[in-house]
Amino acid sequence: MAFKNIVVPYDGSNPSRSALEIAKDLVGADPEATLHVMSVMTVPSDPFHTRPLASEALADYMLVEPDLYERAFRENVKHMRDDLKAELASTLEDLACEVVVDVMPDLTPVEGVATYVRRHDCDLVVMGRRGLGAVRGLIGSVSFGVLRAVDVPVMTVK
Ligand code: ATP
Ligand code: MG
Repeated sequence: MAFKNIVVPYDGSNPSRSALEIAKDLVGADPEATLHVMSVMTVPSDPFHTRPLASEALADYMLVEPDLYERAFRENVKHMRDDLKAELASTLEDLACEVVVDVMPDLTPVEGVATYVRRHDCDLVVMGRRGLGAVRGLIGSVSFGVLRAVDVPVMTVK
């Protein structure tokens, strides 16, 4: 089976760069394939700290206007997406496959990658790992989490 819809979770680290090179080798020449390169921008679950505030005298105050926060947040995601596209432009030029570069906000890298795989129906994940040895387990926490969270094959690269 040839992979047609690969995603590389990218954090700028050397292992993730190696993963991208391998993914390019796998589908770069295939005009019917898509290569997704995506970064997860981790966000807090409760940006307004409503829980601690709710139990305090400050409960009636908002430190940030929610609408303003929402707008600034969207702007920030857009900027990060543009920055990532610029950073990867030369690495991804001259490929025959379709290329998608994206930044996704989520609570954790693992959740962000798993959601992306489901949403885009990806058929392979190629990602980096550190492999810090016996104490940390054989692969890192992000790659191990993704392996458990998705139903498609995961290739890890040092
Ligand atoms: P640890 O998190 O356990 O200290 P680590 O992050 O160096 O170790 P892994 O947990 O295996 O190693 O994760 C590394 C790989 O996970 C990266 O090479 C990259 O492919 C992916 N990754 C990590 N963080 C992100 C992120 N925010 N967005 C996209 N991909 C990521
Ligand atoms: Mg990490």
